[in-house]
Amino acid sequence: MDFESCSSSSVQPSRPYHGFREFVPDARNWKDVPSSDEGESESETVFPGILCAPCTDLWSWLSNSWDIWDTRNPEAWSALERKAGFPHHKSGAELEASFRAGCHLCTHLFHSAVQFDRLRNDEETEEEALQSIRRGGLVRVYVQRPNLNFTPSGFLKLRPHVEAQNDGDAGEPLDGARQQRYSSVPSGNTGGGVMLDRLPSPPWTTHIPGEDMASHPLHTASPKSFQLVRDWIRLCTESHLSCRQTEPQRLPTRLLRVFVHGSSSELATRCVQLVEMEPGTMNTGNLRYAALSYCWGTSNSVKLTRSTHKALLGGIPAAKLAKTLEDAVHTTLRLGLEWLWVDSLCIFQDALDDWTREAATMYDTYQGSFITIAALGASDSNDGLYARRDPLQYAPCPLLPQRGGSETIWAYPDTTCLDPPWKTYYPLHTRGWVFQERILPPRTVKLGPMVAWECREVFTDDLKFEEAPKVTLCGEFHRICLGNIDQTKIRDFWTVALKAYSRGQLSVKTDRLSAISGIISGIQKATGWDNMSGLWLRSLMTELVWWTHAKQCKRTGLRPTWSWISVDGVINSLHIDKSKRRDLAAVQVKSRHNCDVTSDSIPQNTPPTLQLSCIPLEISSCEGGTRLVPEFLIVSSKPNPQKLDFRLDLEGMLPQFFVPLFAVVGSEASKANICGIGVIRSQAYPGCYERVGFAESDGSVDLEDFQRRFLNHSMRESLNLV
Ligand SMILES: [Zn+2]
Ligand SMILES: [Zn+2]
Repeated sequence: MDFESCSSSSVQPSRPYHGFREFVPDARNWKDVPSSDEGESESETVFPGILCAPCTDLWSWLSNSWDIWDTRNPEAWSALERKAGFPHHKSGAELEASFRAGCHLCTHLFHSAVQFDRLRNDEETEEEALQSIRRGGLVRVYVQRPNLNFTPSGFLKLRPHVEAQNDGDAGEPLDGARQQRYSSVPSGNTGGGVMLDRLPSPPWTTHIPGEDMASHPLHTASPKSFQLVRDWIRLCTESHLSCRQTEPQRLPTRLLRVFVHGSSSELATRCVQLVEMEPGTMNTGNLRYAALSYCWGTSNSVKLTRSTHKALLGGIPAAKLAKTLEDAVHTTLRLGLEWLWVDSLCIFQDALDDWTREAATMYDTYQGSFITIAALGASDSNDGLYARRDPLQYAPCPLLPQRGGSETIWAYPDTTCLDPPWKTYYPLHTRGWVFQERILPPRTVKLGPMVAWECREVFTDDLKFEEAPKVTLCGEFHRICLGNIDQTKIRDFWTVALKAYSRGQLSVKTDRLSAISGIISGIQKATGWDNMSGLWLRSLMTELVWWTHAKQCKRTGLRPTWSWISVDGVINSLHIDKSKRRDLAAVQVKSRHNCDVTSDSIPQNTPPTLQLSCIPLEISSCEGGTRLVPEFLIVSSKPNPQKLDFRLDLEGMLPQFFVPLFAVVGSEASKANICGIGVIRSQAYPGCYERVGFAESDGSVDLEDFQRRFLNHSMRESLNLV
């Protein structure tokens, strides 16, 4: 493909504006086996790296002054950043036309301009941003050096600015005021842009032998997409040792056999049939089944109940199922498999005992699957699995060297700063229960805006859009289960896993602990660590200092308050090197279960209780933020009070006491930061205390002085924390 051939005429098929929001309505007519006579729309592809004339000029301009861009000299850089941007398209409308015609760089620049317009005008809708760009005059592209602290990589950042109409034209020198305005536009590093990275191959690629990078399918059910998934499966099963099933797994109680009924292709119907297994049957490896991970939503389609049981045993057309399930049958067949597991069709939905029994084996079901199909983009079981998307909006654009150089530069959107739709295209990941389904399977194909892959050794997608983590969560968890990993790493895994899990929503808030119990029991089995209400007892002191953002947070209704299971919000936790910790309190388990406790001070049926031996410090005031969510706690001691950063668990629940738990000493041994929790006297359990937040000082506290002022002259007390 000629890089300079594109001008105003369209060279790409038409693509959806948003990149991804259109599911494909009807999978009924698709063939299960790829063949040459497949429909046009399924086979349509777009070419990456095609540039319009202004982008070709921009690229020559950039590559001609490459040495300057490459400099690490901050002064040279700031001089460059003060320069007026490169004059690109003559108007916003022309930029949009070029994006629609298929210029790959214009696609990134256009979406970044829309995004930036929205950021500058708070509350602006996407439609308003689009209108303002369409009305806009000259487009200038500014060059910045990205802030490497915030961006994963990136050698340069391009930021387009569309001038308001009548701002002037390209040739006119800038007067002072306008210079000021232009130079102010690209300052700062937030708000996205287009990153340029210098790499020999696309960023974040996992090379599949024979993989064709020449064009990207417009449609995620295309033959090309399925070929790629089959290649991933082959690579994984042939060369990934850790993705192999090492020992026989228990088979699910029920599975769906998927098959095509009818011989001639016109009459062929995809069908599913419920098959019941002998309970406790072990899978010796011959039966490969796919498991579906999806959002139920509100759909009310065929489920397994007493009334549908018989029909399902006899087999029904897949077309009667909810769309996502119907598509999953199609995917299973396209991957050459015969068996599928779907919760709503393999567990009775009107029998609580069956549900309870089967839900307990979910761990084995996902871990024992050959592959899991994740409906990443669907928020409802009627959405489906397959989508039309704009590959150019997600895929990195290759920019070839101008003269003699060998490295390709890749341009891709700076997703770290972007708003939706970039960050919310995974409705599946918003569901708390789904978290274990992400971690347990040996391999998963994810269908959303990308066709993505995650196994225990590889994480990739068809557009090379996402940065592959060095270790995948599912690979790390597998290593933990095998006992092949040191304890610090397990703790790191838990911190990451807990945060990812707590981002998800649970429709039943009290499932907060049960929806992650499979991961907890996996770690328990491998390490022998004891877990109580979601906290690891071996490092209980540091486990107590989790924190969240009160404004997003609600109670789950679960106790104890000292555990993150009591709040419904994203949980952050600190991982503190034990050698740097100086304990200021002691903690032990007083009672484990919701049961009677033989103590005068604790009433009957208390939640799990911890006993803190500590010096609670009375809080003299809360400051900053709002009255309901203060930012600081002040603990008084004449003459100098101590100020602490404070993160409240729930709005409006202000602490009465600060309990210092430990100090973390820095490299300068005398300087430390004090960590602890805010507590109140419990109304529900007289004589006990409840946690209401986390507090810490900055790192500059003189530990000896702090102890002298606050701790040395007080007696330790025993606090029962519920
Ligand atoms: Zn262009
Ligand atoms: Zn693998």
